[in-house]
Formats: sequence, structure tokens, C-alpha cells
Amino acid sequence: MTSESVEEFRSRARAWLADSLPRLDSGDAMVLQRDELSSWRRARELQKKLYDGGFAGICFPREYGGLGLSYEYKKAFDAEALAYETPLMLNVPSFAICCATILDMGSEEQKRAHIAAALRGDEVLVQLLSEPSGGSDLAGVLTRAERRDGRWIINGAKTWSTWAFAADYGLCLARTDWGVPKHEGLTMFLVPLRHPGVTINRIKQVNGSVEFCEEFFDDVDVGDDAVVGEPGKGWEVASRQLYHERRSMGDGSEYTSGPGIAEAEDISVDLLSLVEKTNQAGSEPVREMVGRALVHRAVHGQLSEHVFHAVTHGSLPPAAGSIIRLSMAEVHDVENDTALAVAGPSAVIEDEAGLLDIGTRYLGRQIASIGGGTTEMARNVIGERVLNFPREYAADRGVPFNQVRHGKA
Ligand SMILES: Cc1cc2nc3c(=O)[nH]c(=O)nc-3n(C[C@H](O)[C@H](O)[C@H](O)COP(=O)(O)OP(=O)(O)OC[C@H]3O[C@@H](n4cnc5c(N)ncnc54)[C@H](O)[C@@H]3O)c2cc1C
Repeated sequence: MTSESVEEFRSRARAWLADSLPRLDSGDAMVLQRDELSSWRRARELQKKLYDGGFAGICFPREYGGLGLSYEYKKAFDAEALAYETPLMLNVPSFAICCATILDMGSEEQKRAHIAAALRGDEVLVQLLSEPSGGSDLAGVLTRAERRDGRWIINGAKTWSTWAFAADYGLCLARTDWGVPKHEGLTMFLVPLRHPGVTINRIKQVNGSVEFCEEFFDDVDVGDDAVVGEPGKGWEVASRQLYHERRSMGDGSEYTSGPGIAEAEDISVDLLSLVEKTNQAGSEPVREMVGRALVHRAVHGQLSEHVFHAVTHGSLPPAAGSIIRLSMAEVHDVENDTALAVAGPSAVIEDEAGLLDIGTRYLGRQIASIGGGTTEMARNVIGERVLNFPREYAADRGVPFNQVRHGKA
């Protein structure tokens, strides 16, 4: 509890930001490249400043290094922080997904150690869920962890792990029991990534980004302290993680700090300045197209808040996070399509208009429809777990995992 009102907090944040963080429009701000280790070092430094200044982890409990304040305080800080360079890269997945999952499902020691370290800027956490055999059927993971001499020995492979190259720990879902149905034989581990037996490679995408990694685990030896939740209860942890992921993909998490995905300059396109740059402010069709995209964005913001509060108050189930996730992908698509249409041929050539970035972004158009679980899976979740439609058929339901047919027609 705090005696400081939201407005008092806001003005204290405003003064602190002006004194402590670089303004985006000043020469001191760095354009953070998420692919570069130097940017991650910078993000950690900025996070440390937030922590030392008393503005880190606004909604995380005080005992784990946060401020223990409500969503309204976070929103006030976010609004004030819009004009400043903040460590946005640490929001997702480190804070909003991984730390949030540890907060809900981890042991007291894990919460005290890892959430606090992340808030101080000392630790970055990522998600190790998807595997080369597929990501949508998450409960079908093949990475195994075996019990040997009181330890866990992990073997297998993960892929599409965003920013694992820059991280310290990964939440890794592994199979610990092959003789039970797929959801029942899983355990979630918090695996140190700079650990003997862990190999991390970077994957280059069509747009040139190398944010993705693949990891190979060869006899990676961890103790019981690495288990998040209980052995065999990994699906409960993964489900909570997916809940946090879907909310954070749609900017609906209380654990982020600063502008969300929606406002972050390096993620969403600034359509108004694009119209200015291309001298099309007078064009009726362009104004209509851009207006439509901006309305989508505004509606998404309202929807996000509505779902956040509805889940918090229990009028919607946690699975409703998928509504935000689905809407976010739609907004992203409308924006990217609009930007490409407005930029025209300049989006695909290097010319004085400098709009090649729009074309490069377009190459990543599908990102929002796949990351954080695909749009199809989000629709399934909404259908089955929000609207209570019948569940889709699954041939492996209730079948011990070692009797499930894999990779056969
Ligand atoms: C930007 C981005 C960031 C990511 N970050 C991470 C990360 O940090 N960590 C991580 O572990 N993974 C990450 N991923 C991977 C992501 O979670 C997977 O790509 C996703 O879950 C889909 O898995 P897949 O690519 O193996 O596709 P598949 O599961 O093979 O699916 C292929 C297609 O089949 C459809 N499909 C599959 N099952 C069904 C079904 N039951 N009903 C209807 N349609 C279905 C899917 O919608 C998809 O269109 C990221 C992906 C992206 C794009």
C-alpha cells in the first residue's frame, strides 16, 4: 500500500525521468537494435537506473524488488515515459512472461532470486518452448529430462527462442514421464543458458533479423532448484506462461514498463509521419486508409484494457488473453498493409525517400500472427475456453505419450 496518489506518483515520475533518462528526441538516446549485444547491455543499464531510481517493477510485489503498486500507477508511468529511452527490450518476454510466470508458479527462492535480479537489470529471461517438431502442439514437446543421481539431465532441442543469445535463463518445458498422456508428463525448468551442455545458435530471418535462436541440450545437468512448480506439473506452468504471453503480445500486461508494443517506435509504424514524408496528406484515399489503421489501433487499446480488467475481476477467464493477442495481430497486419500501400514502390528500393524500412517490415508481416502462438490457435482457445464451444478432436487425448504415433501418415 502507498499513501502516494496516482497523480503524485505521476509528477514524481515526470521529474525523475527528466533528470535521469535520455529523451528520445535528444542526441543522447540510442536506437536500440534488438539483434545487438551492445543494445542489451544498454537496456540492462537503463533498467538499473529505473531500479535505483525506484521506478522498476511497478506492479511486481515489493518483497521481490518491485513497487507493489496497481495498474493505474504503471499506466501513469508509461504515459510519462513515452518521450524517453527506456529498456523496452526487457519487457517481453523477460518481465511480462517469464518473471510473471515465476511470480505465479515459482518457489519463494526463485521469486526472490530471479524477479529481483531481472528488475535490477542483472538477469534476462527467455522462453524455451517451441521445438523443431512443432510449436502449436506445445504439450507434445520431445525434449527430455531424466532423473539421475538426484539431478535432472536435459537432452533435446528448442527453436525460435527470441533473444536467447542475450539471456541468462530460459523457461524450458521438458518431458519427464513418457508413460502418461502428454499433458501429464511435463516439467518446467529454469535453465541457466551459459551452462555446460547448452549450445545456442542464431537463426537469420528473411528480413535480416537474427533475433531468433535455436538451442541444443546435451546432458545439461540441473538440480531440483531449477524446477518451476512441481515435477509432472509443467503443463500448469506452461498454461500460465501462455496466458501471460498472450496478454503481453497484445499489450495487456501490468508487468511491462514504458510504452507498449503498440507505441514502441521500432515495432509499430508511425503512419502519420509516413503520410507527411510521402506528401500525401491531401489525398482522400490515403487519409481513409491511415484513418482506418489508426482506428484499429485505438480500438485495440480499449479492448486490451477491457480484457485486462475483465480477467482481473473474473468476468472473463484467463484464456481471454487470446482475444488481445488476436486483435494485436490484426492491428499489426492492417498497419503493415497500410504502410506498404502508402509508401508504394519506395518501400522496395533504396531512394531518397528512405522508406526501405517499410518493405523490410512487410517481410515480417506474419510475425504477429505466429509469435505467442498462432492466430489459428488463438481462435481455438477463444472458441473452446472463452465461448465454451466443443473441443477440437485430438487423437492423442488420454493416450500415454509413448504410445502416441509420431511423424507417421
Ligand atoms: C516473433 C516470434 C517470436 C517467437 N518467440 C518464441 C520464443 O521466444 N520461444 C519459443 O519457444 N517460441 C517462439 N516462437 C515460436 C512460436 O511460438 C511458434 O512459431 C508457434 O507456436 C507455431 O509453431 P510452429 O511454427 O512450429 O508451427 P506449427 O505448430 O507447425 O503450425 C503450423 C501451422 O498449422 C496451424 N495449426 C497447428 N495446429 C493447429 C490446430 N490445432 N488448429 C488450427 N491450426 C493449427 C498453425 O496455426 C500454423 O499455421 C516465436 C515465433 C515468432 C514468429
